[in-house]
Amino acid sequence: MAATSRAIGAKIKPDDSGCVSTAIESSNGKGSELLNRFNKLATSASTYRVTFNQSETHCADGGSQYCTSDHTAFVSSFDVGSSWDRKFPGCSVLGGLGPKMAEDLGGIIVHELLGHGYDDATGRSTTGGDSQQRAIMAENIYHRGAGQKERCETRW
Ligand SMILES: [Zn+2]
Repeated sequence: MAATSRAIGAKIKPDDSGCVSTAIESSNGKGSELLNRFNKLATSASTYRVTFNQSETHCADGGSQYCTSDHTAFVSSFDVGSSWDRKFPGCSVLGGLGPKMAEDLGGIIVHELLGHGYDDATGRSTTGGDSQQRAIMAENIYHRGAGQKERCETRW
């Protein structure tokens, strides 16, 4: 919750059922792309979730991922602090990661929920190279705001 609040620049106050179902305001009075995306999910007819427990989702085994069937972003704690290295020169291949940067909780939540999840909420595919690139671009909004290195795809 705290990491997501920081990422979108707005305080998240869930209701008694743990949900946010109305648009929330930014802390500094300025809107942002990530806040807009969060509010799109919050005000959607579907319920979008973040969980750290893979057994609470239909997600396949593996690391952090967005599960379209239950609108859930699964965040693997093993991915927090993991560092990505560029896999290919120029990072021109979709899904190639890097330059070397360390992932943090906010970046992973933004990638899965406000990247792939936002694709889901806007009727786009949540899998494949195009969705991955959009999720990385969303994640890079967060990295730039946090003064962190970006994943490379938007730079080449
Ligand atoms: Zn992804």
